[in-house]
Amino acid sequence: MSQVVAQQVESRFRETFASSAALYDRAVKLFPSGVTHDSRYLKPFPIYIDHASGSRKTDRDGNELIDYWMGHGAMLLGHSHPAVVEAVAAQVGRATHPGACHELELEWGERVQRLVPSAERIRFTNSGTEATLMAVRVARIVSGRTKVLKFAGHFHGWHDQLIPAASPPHDAESGYSMPGITEGVFGDLVIVPPNDLEAAAAAIAEHQPACVIHEGNGSRWGAVPARAEFLQGLRQVTAESDTILILDEVITGFRVHEGGFQSVCEIVPDMTTMAKVLAGGLPGGCLAGRADLLEALAFENSLGKKMKHPGTFNANPLSAAAGCAALDVVATGEPSRVANRQAARLRQGLNALFAEQGLPWVAYGDFSAIKLIPGYQGPAPEGDDWVPYEGDYRRLDVTYDESLGHAFRCALLLGGVDWMGWAGSTSSAHTDADIEATLSGFATAIELLCADGLISAA
Ligand code: PMP
Repeated sequence: MSQVVAQQVESRFRETFASSAALYDRAVKLFPSGVTHDSRYLKPFPIYIDHASGSRKTDRDGNELIDYWMGHGAMLLGHSHPAVVEAVAAQVGRATHPGACHELELEWGERVQRLVPSAERIRFTNSGTEATLMAVRVARIVSGRTKVLKFAGHFHGWHDQLIPAASPPHDAESGYSMPGITEGVFGDLVIVPPNDLEAAAAAIAEHQPACVIHEGNGSRWGAVPARAEFLQGLRQVTAESDTILILDEVITGFRVHEGGFQSVCEIVPDMTTMAKVLAGGLPGGCLAGRADLLEALAFENSLGKKMKHPGTFNANPLSAAAGCAALDVVATGEPSRVANRQAARLRQGLNALFAEQGLPWVAYGDFSAIKLIPGYQGPAPEGDDWVPYEGDYRRLDVTYDESLGHAFRCALLLGGVDWMGWAGSTSSAHTDADIEATLSGFATAIELLCADGLISAA
C-alpha cells in the first residue's frame, strides 16, 4: 500500500489488528515474507486467527470476521462442525498413526465410492497436489505416452508438471515457463485455451498425450467457468482418441454437489482427483477412477510395471475420521444446496450494491464461488449463470492491481469480512444474516477505499 493513498485504511487496520502486527514481526524472521502460503500474504501484514466456528473466525484481538476463505474451500460444512469435531476427538487418543492398515480407511474409501460412482478404485494421498501428481504418473505408466494436455489458467497444485500456465498472463512468450521448472518438464506440457473443444481435439491429435487434465468447473474454481456441454464434448473427444481424461475435483468434489462436478455434468471421467472437503478440514486427498488404470499402483500387476507410492501420512486415521464424518453430512445433499444458494444471494446482493453505488465492479461465479472484477467494463449482469466478457479467458483470468487488492482486503477486514483475494467461497454455515452483514461490510469497505482515493464511485 503506498503511503499517499490508503491512509485511512492502513491506519485503521494497524489499530484494529494490532496483535497481528506484533505476530507478523516474529513471522518475518521465520518464514519468507512471513507467510506459509502465498495467498495469505497481505500488506501491511496478514491477520492471525485464534479460533473459528461455523461461518466465523476470530482473530487474536477478538475481531469476529465472516469467513469466505472456508479453509481454501475445504470447510464446506463451516468451521468446527460438531460431527467432525466429535469424530476427530474420539480418534485422537486411539491412534493417529498406527503405521498399519485400519478400518477407518475402508469406511472413508467406501463413502467416496458411494458418492462418486466413477471411483472404482481409490488411493489416498495427503493433498490435492499429490493426487494430481499421481494421476499424471499413472496415466503415463498405463498409456506408455509422455505428454500431458492441460488448459491455460487451470490450477492443479504446485508440483513441477502442472504448475505452469496455472495463472495469468496467458501468453506463451512471457508467462508459461516458470522459475525452477526445467525445460524438459515444461516441454512435456501441451497447453490449450480453456473451453475450446476444437483446440483440445487438434492438440490431442497432434501430440497424442498420455492424458488430458481439466480443472473441475474451470480455471481456479471457475474464474473462467466451464459448462456441462464442454465437459461432455471433452469426454467424447478423449474417449474417441483413447486418451485418459482426468477431472481435477480437488475443489469441486463434494462441494458443488455431493457427487461432484462430474455428477452435475453427467460425465464419467477415467480418473478423478479429490481433496479439501474429502478430508473434512484435515489434510488429505485421493486419486480415484477406473480399476484398470489404478492397477498401476498394484503389486504384481497385469501391466508388469508398478508405480511406487509411499507417503507417511496416507489415509491417516485422523483425516479418515474427519472425512467420514464430513462425507456423511455431505451425502444428504444439503451442504452443497445451502452453500450454492447463499453464494447466489451474495452475488446478487453485491451486484445490486455495486450498481447502487455506481461502482464499476461486478460479481459472478457458479455454485458456492463468488468472483469479483474491479474496474469492470461491460454490460450489466443478466441472471445468475451470466459470465462477464462472454467467457473470454484473456479478459476474465487476469491479474488486478495488486496495491488495490491489498487495500481492498484490509478495508473489507475492517468491515468484518475475510475475503480471499478477489474471490470468496460460502459454506453451509453461512446464514441469511451473514449475507446481509457481508453486504454491509462491503459498503464499509467501498466507503473507506473511496475516502482514500483508491476507487471512485459515481
Ligand atoms: N487442484 C485444484 C483444483 C485445487 O483447487 C487445488 C488447491 N487449491 C489443488 C489441486 C491443490 O491441492 P492442495 O492445496 O491440497 O495441494
